[in-house]
Amino acid sequence: MSALELAGVGFSYGPRRALEQVAFELDAGSFTALLGPNGAGKSTLIALLTRLYDLQQGEVAVCGHSLRREPRKALAKLGVVFQQSTLDLDLSIEQNLRYHAALHGLPGRLANARIERELERQQLSPRRKDKVRLLNGGHRRRVEIARALLHEPRLLLLDEASAGLDPASRDGLNLHVRQLCREQAVAVLWTTHLLDEIQPEDRLLVLHQGRIIANGCAASLSERQVGGLAGTFARLTTCA
Ligand code: ADP
Ligand code: MG
Repeated sequence: MSALELAGVGFSYGPRRALEQVAFELDAGSFTALLGPNGAGKSTLIALLTRLYDLQQGEVAVCGHSLRREPRKALAKLGVVFQQSTLDLDLSIEQNLRYHAALHGLPGRLANARIERELERQQLSPRRKDKVRLLNGGHRRRVEIARALLHEPRLLLLDEASAGLDPASRDGLNLHVRQLCREQAVAVLWTTHLLDEIQPEDRLLVLHQGRIIANGCAASLSERQVGGLAGTFARLTTCA
């Protein structure tokens, strides 16, 4: 079963069209990059998938659950790291995680076990008592990933998770998420406007002015384009 399925998704902010006929499927446990210049509609798509905005047109299903008809079941399968951090800087790492576990209604013991596990996985255990304010950008993102995984979603959405990080932290986070995807068999949708975060073997979706204009293996898409993917993307970005 697909981790995510979109058909005919459209969205407007008043008269401004932000998404048009967006359709794609993500396989369970797969890593997919969604590449698009600023303003392409990436965050709007994430807002629709997480139900921050109501669907206007089209259908979305998460692990087979319709976002319209079974929103609770659909959202239970989904974890998200938003473009803008939503951590409480004055709470510790552990307190931030505990708060989220409570929001998801995880009973105390289960919450403790999951928090332990995610802290280990994100290599944050030694810093669990530190206030988030003391952490660098890369570690803050790891706290958000830990938080997004507490309720064991089958699909993890990351919206420009590496934006604002220095190049080494950016690479580190990208590799970390790929490893997570492989080892935990969680499907990942990684949005970015940076071509260098994409590897040749990646499944790639290119979003431009609200439309999916390419969908396939990054390497084969690149071969079909004059100037490779970099050339195509540069042209898109300059005309965006
Ligand atoms: P991205 O995340 O790819 O940079 P967004 O989804 O943020 O793109 O934006 C897509 C388009 O929708 C852009 O043209 C942007 O200006 C517009 N947009 C985004 N948010 C709003 C909003 N709250 N009100 C009106 N227009 C918006
Ligand atoms: Mg955005």
